[in-house]
Amino acid sequence: MVVATRQLGRHVTVLFGHEQGKYPDGNTVVVQGRGGSVLIDPALSVRNAQPPLAVDTVLLTHTHEDHAAGLSAVTTTDIRVHEDDLAALRSVDGLMRLYGIAESHWPQMTDLVTERFHFEGWPSATGLVDGDVIDLGDVRVHAIHAPGHTSGHTVYLAEDDDGVRVLVMGDIDLSTFGPYYGDASSSLEAFETTLAALRDLRADHYVTFHHKGVIDGSDVFRDAIDTYAAVFGRRRESLLALLDQPRTFDQLVESGIVYRSGTRPPLFGDSVERHSIRRHLDRVLADGDVATDGSHYWRHE
Ligand SMILES: [Zn+2]
Repeated sequence: MVVATRQLGRHVTVLFGHEQGKYPDGNTVVVQGRGGSVLIDPALSVRNAQPPLAVDTVLLTHTHEDHAAGLSAVTTTDIRVHEDDLAALRSVDGLMRLYGIAESHWPQMTDLVTERFHFEGWPSATGLVDGDVIDLGDVRVHAIHAPGHTSGHTVYLAEDDDGVRVLVMGDIDLSTFGPYYGDASSSLEAFETTLAALRDLRADHYVTFHHKGVIDGSDVFRDAIDTYAAVFGRRRESLLALLDQPRTFDQLVESGIVYRSGTRPPLFGDSVERHSIRRHLDRVLADGDVATDGSHYWRHE
């Protein structure tokens, strides 16, 4: 159920999910113009909307189970996501490949996304790219490629004739958990570049899919981005601390740098740690802070 709504200017409405869009729920955005309507990221909470939501176009910020959870209940035939995330939206197997989890976990993970998140695979979905604009007459929605979380992750800037600008951020969620780059298609470098680029993007409101909900004003947004980006450094420090003694990659994964002790999700948590540690390890090796003999890694004195 949509818990609350908030109107941002004359054209943008946020439909808040449970606990401000706490996972598995999320915050959905509707942009209504004179010439049509767009819905961004149909969350679990819009599944039971009455009457069902009818829009011209659905845009996803990226292909993850929670961002398409309400999709089968929205009336539209025009579904779009960045072309790098398109294969994952078109089929469940494509989604499994985007996650990059071990194939032995595919059946269980498939059950999870189909039963809990109603993920069907949408073969007729189409791709979009950076710079695409959906013109709704008196408001326009601009696609801005913002990779890192997934390779196709895209944010959407709605700008109306009154000059009101709303940036829909997807899973650049500005949470205390920090950036998530634990899938096969994620990238630490791309995420850093994305945050640096978005930091100076001026808007009146910034909407995240989880946790924060709506941030008002560029100054508050910039501070939130800086706090969020600081988590990269904390994970790097966690990794270096583990490497005060020689460890194998599997030992590093067992300890982990992403999830706090006791909070690692079953099924995909190990895979997230593997991908994230691999990315930080490549970085500290390239920086010359860590050495390896091929099986063990340790911090230089
Ligand atoms: Zn996501």
